[in-house]
Order: sequence, then structure tokens, then C-alpha cells
Amino acid sequence: VLDTAFFRRWLAAMAAAVERAADRLTELDSAIGDADHGSNLQRGFRAVTTALEKDVPAAPGAVLTLAGRQLISTVGGASGPLYGTLLRRAGKALGDAAEVTPAELAEALRAGVAGVAQLGGAKTGDKTMLDALEPAAEALGTSFAAAAEAAERGALATVPLLARKGRASYLGERSIGHQDPGATSSALLITTLAATAE
Ligand code: ADP
Ligand code: MG
Ligand code: MG
Repeated sequence: VLDTAFFRRWLAAMAAAVERAADRLTELDSAIGDADHGSNLQRGFRAVTTALEKDVPAAPGAVLTLAGRQLISTVGGASGPLYGTLLRRAGKALGDAAEVTPAELAEALRAGVAGVAQLGGAKTGDKTMLDALEPAAEALGTSFAAAAEAAERGALATVPLLARKGRASYLGERSIGHQDPGATSSALLITTLAATAE
């Protein structure tokens, strides 16, 4: 079972992964966006870390909703509200249970992904974070490792795609041949989840 401490460890692992990947995420965003995805997420996950140190949420769902709120209020870009919605929706779906099963987390993540799709109007194949998150949420029904693999595969699969949403879509055909920054950071969110579960 997954308890509150597990969710705190997951988000701490994600914050550390964002620190390590920030330059690469910004570089990916400089090719098809405005070169701020790494710094956006760095600011966001630093705020998540600080908030989780100050406030000790009593349940897994509360950890995710607190993190989601921080991302919405501190990340300026498109990714802030989208990541924030992902985590808030997932947190809400978990309710106030003190422990959740992997199957319940998978279902909550699917609710979060539906929230991202609704807010951003994107679907899988549009070269966005959904290309990593959607297959990962599906595969999480099987195992954490399968979810991590699906997320990484999904992020890599954005390279040949034409961007249909967000800033990258302004480039049209010129968005082809570059990996989507948001799908790349989304894969980190899922690989850190799998690593935390190991
Ligand atoms: P901004 O584009 O505002 O500078 P970021 O650089 O932080 O924001 O995030 C860019 C990422 O956000 C993209 O790589 C993409 O994955 C994701 N994104 C942008 N628009 C959408 C959308 N409508 N739906 C889903 N994801 C989106
Ligand atoms: Mg950007
Ligand atoms: Mg920006």
C-alpha cells in the first residue's frame, strides 16, 4: 500500500529529478517553445518542496492537491495549470484515505489525465505532456515499471509529431523532429513514481 510518506517521497524525487533535468528541459523548450520549461518546473517543484516541509498533509490525496496548488500558483507557463490540474484532480480522486492501492492510484491518475485533456483541449498525438501521461496512466494498471516504460516511450514518440497545442503549435511543420519538453518532464514524473515504488 501507498501511504502519505510514499507520496511525499515521490514528489521529493520528482523535485530532485527536475533540478537535474532543468537545463535539458529548457533546451528542448528552446527548440520549439520559449526556453523556460526547465526553469518553470524548477520554480514550481521548489515551491512544492517548501510547502511540503511547512505543512504535513495527513493523506496521500492532500499531498497531491497541495502540490498541485503550488504548481498552479508558482509556474507561470502553460505547464503550471496543466500539471496543477493533473495533481489536484488525482488528489481529489484519492479522497482522504490514509493509504491507497496501486489500482486506486492508477484510477486517480487517469482522472488527473482527463483533467489535463479537458483544460488544455489536447489529445494523445498532439505532441504534449499527454503523450507521456496518457499511456502511463493506462499502463499503471499493470505495474509501476510498465507505466515508467510507457511514459518514456510516449515522450520519445513525440519527436516525429507535429505539435497541435501550446506554443510549439505556432511552429507548424517546424515542430517536427524535436522532443516535446512537457512530455519529457511528464515521463520524469512517472519514472520517479516507479523508482519510489521499488
Ligand atoms: P509555456 O509554453 O507557457 O512556456 P512550458 O514551457 O512550461 O509553458 O510548458 C510547455 C509544455 O506544456 C509543452 O511542451 C507541452 O507539453 C505542454 N502543453 C502546452 N500546451 C498544452 C495543452 N494545451 N495541453 C497539454 N499540454 C500542453
Ligand atoms: Mg515554455
Ligand atoms: Mg513560457
